[in-house]
Amino acid sequence: MPKYCPECGETVKEGTNFCKKCGHKFFEKVAPTPTRTQTNSATEDQNKHSGFGITALVLGIISMCLIWLSFFTPFYFVVELPMGIIATILGAVGYWGKWKDKFGLAGFILGLLVIVIGMIFVLLVTTVYVINYY
Ligand SMILES: [Zn+2]
Repeated sequence: MPKYCPECGETVKEGTNFCKKCGHKFFEKVAPTPTRTQTNSATEDQNKHSGFGITALVLGIISMCLIWLSFFTPFYFVVELPMGIIATILGAVGYWGKWKDKFGLAGFILGLLVIVIGMIFVLLVTTVYVINYY
């Protein structure tokens, strides 16, 4: 594809840095093009989200909310612990798989927190029952 001088409109060969008609220097204007393309693709990579990552993040947030409910209603452990485990697995697939999804990493961390906090709550509740009944 031929280039045109921005000053005089003369057709310029690819790879030439000066306009042969008016002497306009346009090297600086040609050079940034590959850099801009690299920046764009890098931004696209960062914004790339997989179904795994989004699902992991949503499950992580929901299970994180449920865990505070389960402090008062232990029944929610049955729902929220498996959700945390699924969020961790899906998040790991989303982030360490081909997608490099930041949502996946967030879901993975939330899922792990849910599992750790959930286990502590289960231990606390069990301890309270054991103290009360034995
Ligand atoms: Zn020119």
